[in-house]
Amino acid sequence: MARIIAVALPKGGVGKTTTAVNLAASLAVAEQRTLLIDMDSFGASGLSLGFTEGKIRTGLFEVFNFITGLPSAIHRTELAFLDFVPSNVQSLQAEERLMRLAENRSILKNALRGAAQQYDYVILDCPPVLRGLSTNALTAADSVLVPVKSGHFSLDAVDKLMKYVDWMREVANKSLEIEGILLTMHEPNTRVTDITMRELQAKHHKHMLQTIIPKNTVLGEASFYGKPAILYDVNSRGSAAYLALAREIIARQALRKAQALASSRQFGQQG
Ligand code: ATP
Ligand code: MG
Repeated sequence: MARIIAVALPKGGVGKTTTAVNLAASLAVAEQRTLLIDMDSFGASGLSLGFTEGKIRTGLFEVFNFITGLPSAIHRTELAFLDFVPSNVQSLQAEERLMRLAENRSILKNALRGAAQQYDYVILDCPPVLRGLSTNALTAADSVLVPVKSGHFSLDAVDKLMKYVDWMREVANKSLEIEGILLTMHEPNTRVTDITMRELQAKHHKHMLQTIIPKNTVLGEASFYGKPAILYDVNSRGSAAYLALAREIIARQALRKAQALASSRQFGQQG
């Protein structure tokens, strides 16, 4: 069964899509079967992978309308281990309809039920608001990965997200975890970076990931050319950082599985 990771923060432009696309591509390069789903009707993760309008058959829009099941919305990508579900929202009316349908927070969870078994990881690229499609993502997810760009307003957004996660645990998904807080667009030795890091360390120490994503223009350029950074410039600092993030996430998952196995053996011996 896949580990389902929602990339979310209620703030625009912090690197959610860049993280979702490049983490998914890096997991795929590490031969982890990965499915990326674009939960944002804006469609940025599709564009970052080169999915322009003519290349999309069906997407999340049809899945939420019960026109197709999730498997029919899955598209192959340039990477053998990476599949993609686009949002496929082509008009304002379609967007409004999708928002209305997404008020039912269990649609994605139900749609993923069979499909998730064919993957090691499902990555969900969420929009910058905590309702509708994000609520669907957090209902279906095992964990939330939180990209944070240096700056005071990002810190407020982290507090808001943590409260939302607590609420989701109460009403819809009691085992929802924080995968970790990821510093993105990092510029060392600036005052605002120092303040952000100090506050995050003080408040959320246990959730901080070791990997830090540097500010690196290749990440923006690559998405402009419809490629994950790893296929555009594998030697860039951005590519290396997302490969390191994939390694960190794979290692944590391996540890989780080993602990689960050990405790089930212990339980077996006792029982
Ligand atoms: P939205 O909330 O609008 O969906 P987002 O959180 O998904 O935004 P992105 O689209 O990933 O954010 O990134 C915002 C902008 O910052 C993009 O132009 C992207 O190319 C750029 N960017 C993201 N990460 C980096 C980075 N590490 N270095 C330099 N530029 C970056
Ligand atoms: Mg985005």
